[in-house]
Amino acid sequence: MSDYTQRRYLRVAEAAELVNARPETVRIALRSGAMHGTQRSKSGIRRVQPACAMAWAESVECQHMSELVSLESYRKSKRPKR
Ligand SMILES: [Zn+2]
Repeated sequence: MSDYTQRRYLRVAEAAELVNARPETVRIALRSGAMHGTQRSKSGIRRVQPACAMAWAESVECQHMSELVSLESYRKSKRPKR
């Protein structure tokens, strides 16, 4: 199991094993955006970084999600008011 955390990307089944979840649960989490993952194409295989899967399992945002949120609030603060 510890090998998974050394990998850059995991497939859905591997991410599920890492966090002791069912692959379908992981798939739903990815689809809803609760878990951060990447997809090469619309029909392509989703890949998950170990840290993102573990963040989801702990009900916290992964590093990438928090970065996106802070970028969004930065943009909002810069937006001119009319
Ligand atoms: Zn992430």
